[in-house]
Amino acid sequence: MQILCYNCHKPYGLNKEAVHAALDQMAAENLNHYDAPCPHCRRVNRVSRKELQRAAPDWKAQPVERRTNG
Ligand SMILES: [Zn+2]
Repeated sequence: MQILCYNCHKPYGLNKEAVHAALDQMAAENLNHYDAPCPHCRRVNRVSRKELQRAAPDWKAQPVERRTNG
């Protein structure tokens, strides 16, 4: 997905892996936005969960893995 930096107004992209990782993190920590740092100016842009899910419609929340001994 493309993000337009609010600070330097340059576009940058999050690849699918990054979007999925962000969604996983938000699901795990119950967040509603993701902080995506701009590679140009290092400012953090907030991306809403909805926007990320639009970019990765095949992503699904995974149930929390249970730890097993061994
Ligand atoms: Zn920027």
